[in-house]
Amino acid sequence: MKNTISGIAASQGIAIAKAYHLVHPDLTIEKKEVIEVEAEIARLDQAIQESVKELTAIKEHTLKELGPDKAAIFDAHLLVANDPELIQPIKDKVKHEKLNPEFALREVADLFINMFENMDNEYMKERAADIRDVTKRVLAHLLGVSIPNPSLVTEDVIIVAEDLTPSDTAQLNRQFVKGFTTDIGGRTSHSAIMARSMEIPAVVGTKSVTKETKNGDVIIIDGLDGNVIVNPTEEILLQYKEKQQSYQKQKDEWAKLKEEKTLSSDGHHVELAANIGTPKDVKGVLENGGEGIGLYRTEFLYMGRDQLPTEEEQFEAYKTVLENMGDKPVVVRTLDIGGDKELPYLHLPKEMNPFLGFRAIRLCLEQQDIFRTQLRALLRASVYGNLKIMFPMIATLDEFRQAKTILLEEKDQLVAGGTKVSDSIEIGMMVEIPSSAIIADQFAKEVDFFSIGTNDLIQYTMAADRMNEQVSYLYQPYHPAILRLVNMVIEAAHKEGKWAGMCGEMAGDPIAIPLLLGLGLDEFSMSATSILPARSQLKGLSKEEISKHKHTILSMSTSEEVMAFVNEHFMK
Ligand code: PEP
Ligand code: MG
Repeated sequence: MKNTISGIAASQGIAIAKAYHLVHPDLTIEKKEVIEVEAEIARLDQAIQESVKELTAIKEHTLKELGPDKAAIFDAHLLVANDPELIQPIKDKVKHEKLNPEFALREVADLFINMFENMDNEYMKERAADIRDVTKRVLAHLLGVSIPNPSLVTEDVIIVAEDLTPSDTAQLNRQFVKGFTTDIGGRTSHSAIMARSMEIPAVVGTKSVTKETKNGDVIIIDGLDGNVIVNPTEEILLQYKEKQQSYQKQKDEWAKLKEEKTLSSDGHHVELAANIGTPKDVKGVLENGGEGIGLYRTEFLYMGRDQLPTEEEQFEAYKTVLENMGDKPVVVRTLDIGGDKELPYLHLPKEMNPFLGFRAIRLCLEQQDIFRTQLRALLRASVYGNLKIMFPMIATLDEFRQAKTILLEEKDQLVAGGTKVSDSIEIGMMVEIPSSAIIADQFAKEVDFFSIGTNDLIQYTMAADRMNEQVSYLYQPYHPAILRLVNMVIEAAHKEGKWAGMCGEMAGDPIAIPLLLGLGLDEFSMSATSILPARSQLKGLSKEEISKHKHTILSMSTSEEVMAFVNEHFMK
């Protein structure tokens, strides 16, 4: 086993704690004939009892931490685990067919799962998912392996996983999870983005951390340099504690800039805003001196649950964010589901290329009831703050026009019914598909603002899946092709008197910051923890000076050339 594993630094900071493997165990089973039938049935009973005990504990914990809605999922699981209509046929199979309980359980459960899944009824389909989950848990007990229960963790841990889905990440207990590391994923995968909004260090894309570590190993996550250190010696531990302290000192320095406006050395103001995933993240935005929210990824409201959020739930979430931000701008992005963000309860067909598929605005324009519910919640919340709305994944003018028309229809209806709606909501769009960057001049006539989503814009321009570390070398934010597209969008906006922001990860990247300042970007939206370092950097940069080199930079032919130029001229 290696002592140092390298990966991609996905969220800054140093964390030291015990490893907690969030790895799903191998549950493959074989068909066997059993002789001691009664003993086998007792073994099954024991596994069920242990599962019930675990589920009860998870339910209670969930109730306390996340409320009755989320806890209800485990009520449903407990019903399944105690259901004689499921358990008795398994016992009968063991008794009469002399089958091992593992195999009997799988056979009976599969029968029920198939039956429920094929019913034309959402409620019954969800029961199939419950049976699948409970079966896994009982099987794990029968096989003597354990299913991870991260919500029950009661000591500081570092989560080690192959990958973390955004909903896994959203369910991590912020009190005890000190950091995480994964085998797959890149800097712009959504688990990395969530780690930054939770302000915990993370190293992703290590390829092998799940194999190189075991539960309980002491692990250091170096989210500054992208390393994971396993079972360090006393000396190494000391070195990292010092590194942790000096990072803290640096953070204390940055903290002094919290109340300052973001001004370049030649007095040009840009807005430094934050990307958030949940209303809970607002606290971190204000603590880090955010001048606004440049991207509220609303899809997290829809994830980690088994049905769509109601209009009322959404209204409460949006209102909370707007009220807590006061008069600071809050750009809310409408539902951007798809890609690596799935909603199992929508039962959408599996796609060959989910990042190029039926997602975001494409889905919203087709399933308008979902879209309209969200828009109504937003419009109603608009009177509580400074709301701006933007649509994700716009590829054509027609999509933007349709989305805007639907928004205005909902507004008219609300107003006609006597509901107050703000009159100054700006309506903008994400520029994350090359087609929309290329005709940004035409979009600029119809939108109030642009927000450039470089995470997707780079993946689509370079044709390189943002989740695949094998092609992550093509994530090249300083590539002249990307810089030219960004420049086109900013110029198009300014020509029409509109503003252009950026909410992709590039906006918080220290090498990109001088370039973007020089190109005239108006708003930089990033992880809350990047705001103060960015403010400190911008204070030392002159917009006018960098703008003089704009033509030279845009005429370069490789990312390396651009990087070398920035390092030589604009980095201290
Ligand atoms: C982007 O694509 O740059 C973006 C900000 O959106 P997301 O990362 O949520 O796809
Ligand atoms: Mg995107």
